[in-house]
Amino acid sequence: MRQFDQLKATELFCPKCRTAQPVRERLLLVLPHAELYEYRCVACASSLGQREVKGPPLGATRMPPPRPARAPGSQMRLGGRR
Ligand SMILES: [Zn+2]
Repeated sequence: MRQFDQLKATELFCPKCRTAQPVRERLLLVLPHAELYEYRCVACASSLGQREVKGPPLGATRMPPPRPARAPGSQMRLGGRR
């Protein structure tokens, strides 16, 4: 029984239908850090809720910002000194 609870909520209370209706999950918006999903009633197609799904932090955090910390010229001078 518990496993069924873990499934995604496919029924939400619809104020128009005045009862719990099965909903459809639609991808509403793709943000740089997350995806915005919208739940819509399958009967009257009214929006019942939104949900923000944060994607795995793969692309964003894995990209190190290119920063020229050291100039190539200074490294040469340091190497010449003994
Ligand atoms: Zn409805």
